[in-house]
Amino acid sequence: MDSILRITEKNGAFRAFVADTTQLVGQASSVHGLSPVAAAALGRTLTANSIMGLDLKSFDETVSIQICADGPLGYIVTVGDNDGNVRGYLDNPIVDLPLKNGKLDVSGAVGQGTLTVVHNMGMRDPYVGRVKIQTGEIAQDIAYYYMISQQTPSVVALGVLVDVDYSIKAAGGYMIQLLPGAGDDVISKLEANVYTLETVTEMLTNNLDVYGIAKRLLLGFDYDVLQSYSPQYKCNCSVDRMERALISLGSQQLQSIIDEDGKAELSCQFCKRKFLFDKSHLINLLESAKGV
Ligand SMILES: [Zn+2]
Repeated sequence: MDSILRITEKNGAFRAFVADTTQLVGQASSVHGLSPVAAAALGRTLTANSIMGLDLKSFDETVSIQICADGPLGYIVTVGDNDGNVRGYLDNPIVDLPLKNGKLDVSGAVGQGTLTVVHNMGMRDPYVGRVKIQTGEIAQDIAYYYMISQQTPSVVALGVLVDVDYSIKAAGGYMIQLLPGAGDDVISKLEANVYTLETVTEMLTNNLDVYGIAKRLLLGFDYDVLQSYSPQYKCNCSVDRMERALISLGSQQLQSIIDEDGKAELSCQFCKRKFLFDKSHLINLLESAKGV
């Protein structure tokens, strides 16, 4: 089962999250039929979004990462809730690029553009933060977002290891955020730890769990594990949401669907679930559309 730990250093110098998202990235990969580089890009973004969601204050809030860039993967979007559950998709799930230095070329597949974080708080206006993509490797871009948008120095690592059969062998990451008052000694000790650490996917495939990774990452520090979460790949689509999407097309568009096709088939972009609307259902929606 996937797991994320929320950790705080005993003297309040930093907080940290350590995540194993192997299952949920695997689920995303099989829902969308992702190529290895697409699985790495979407999987890293889902992992970051899952961690980010844990800071939401209530269950009706969401946070979304949207990457709008010129690489072959196209638009990448993920959405998460306050339990760390996430969903996402990208424009081109089967992009294939040559390896770069023996690794999946995530930055080449993402390209240049912007990374936007949208925090939806129910009825209030959403909070939107946008930064220019720095590397396209996702982790550094998330760290840059926290620095620019929240003035929080952060260390972010994200990884997805794709097996030869395209299944997800391991996925996860960590984020350390310095809190005001963190001294130089703390920073240099953390840097030394991070520098000597293997990648997250290496540690996961070496049978370290999130507790074991935390122990390595935070070697020499006293810390408390405040909470443990079990995030999942989870969609919240429903007939009701799809009806609203159809109604929002407007009565003219709905009328032409009724006249030309006599039915509508909608597919959820996040989970590929299909919704069929027959003629009488569409006529009912048309009445609602006219009433708006
Ligand atoms: Zn769905």
